[in-house]
Amino acid sequence: MTLIIHGTTILTADDADRVLHGAAIAIEGDRIAAIGPEAEVLPRYPGATLVDGRDRAVLPGFANIHTHLHMTLARGIFEDLSPPHRPPFCGGLSPIPLPALSVEETTVMCQLGALEAIRSGTTAVLEDGAGLLGSAEAMAATGLRMLLTERCWDRAGANIGDPSPFDHSERLGEQGLERVARLHAAWNGKAEGRLRVGVSAWAPDMCSPGLLRRLEELRARLDTIGTIHLNQIWGEVAAVQAHRGRLPTEYLEDCGFLQPRLVAAHCRCMVHQEERLLGKARASVAFNSAIAARRGLSPRISVLQAEGCTIGMGTDNMAEDMVEVMRTGLFMERIRREDGRNPAPEEALRWATRNGYAAMGVPDGGWLAPGNRADLILIRTDRPHLVPRLNMASAFVHQGQAADVESVMVDGQWIMREGRVLTMDEPAILREAERIATRAWGRLRAERPDLPWPPGLAPLD
Ligand SMILES: [Zn+2]
Repeated sequence: MTLIIHGTTILTADDADRVLHGAAIAIEGDRIAAIGPEAEVLPRYPGATLVDGRDRAVLPGFANIHTHLHMTLARGIFEDLSPPHRPPFCGGLSPIPLPALSVEETTVMCQLGALEAIRSGTTAVLEDGAGLLGSAEAMAATGLRMLLTERCWDRAGANIGDPSPFDHSERLGEQGLERVARLHAAWNGKAEGRLRVGVSAWAPDMCSPGLLRRLEELRARLDTIGTIHLNQIWGEVAAVQAHRGRLPTEYLEDCGFLQPRLVAAHCRCMVHQEERLLGKARASVAFNSAIAARRGLSPRISVLQAEGCTIGMGTDNMAEDMVEVMRTGLFMERIRREDGRNPAPEEALRWATRNGYAAMGVPDGGWLAPGNRADLILIRTDRPHLVPRLNMASAFVHQGQAADVESVMVDGQWIMREGRVLTMDEPAILREAERIATRAWGRLRAERPDLPWPPGLAPLD
């Protein structure tokens, strides 16, 4: 069975950043069979199912290489409560804790995140979290390609960015290692190979040298991807200096944790020596531009890139919109470089697609070429903000919106088609997520009215 999208514009994100006009792309099974001028591709596949691609463009799907899907729960609460960049540091990413949810409730918040991800053209997700087994089945059903990285730590009674003494808990570490093993046994390679399981160390100030070494051993044995929050906030840097007398990336190098299949998230509060170490290890960096901007921090992307890192992109908390992340990344890096031409839109597109796939260990995804995985999106281009359609890479990176995404395909299967997500009951999930979040925050506010609640909250009962 062959499917051909024809009469369309194709942004390939290949080595030459080729853009094809009046083109067609043929898909057979889970792979791209052909890409080229419509007049060449169509006659080769008589009897193929045709999808009219006029007034549309085909792009590779986005890879979100750092997110926590259930954190949609904190939307509207955490965005303006970032920790300080200067001492005193007290730990945690918000002075308000996340309310406790049941496994079922957490799963609904993850489904909400997955809906937003699909609607913004995401096809691959690196999810980081503790206890991912509980929502794995629902995540498999979304149709997204997912790398589930189960989070481990062995510091008791503290959160990221707390320079108080490191209270080591052997038990916490063991529990994490067991969770990784269980998730891996249950889900790695499942859902026609769309789901894989990786290993996450929470952060350098949450993991002892012994745990970091064991996690890296486990990762190598499972032949998978590792990830960590790295140089995320200044409190973390202060904590690692207090605990280890080293900077966070130096500490990871001491523990043998830096390697080419590492996705290091954030990399913002870094000195050049650390950027050099990460580049020397050929690690990938998750540039989480929108949350970085919200926190008032920025990684030095051009430096990390020049030192040898692969730059991918992620949304991190409270949002899953990769269109916004791509554009914010381009904007932030231009401001930081004081350069109105670089990075180019083609480069930002590559960060958000192909590089992210490479970081997730899928080098034949995230760019459109014969033989590659059929993970792609169809966007509407007959929109006031995209016409005239003279230069689609520039137009979409600079002006595109998540709402332009009309259809999303993973492994040759539509998971969203003509504006409708096919793999989830969207209205039911929206209703449930609203109910769950309102109740959970309502309970917490009733218990803790003293916390710095944002102004203008809706009634929470
Ligand atoms: Zn994160």
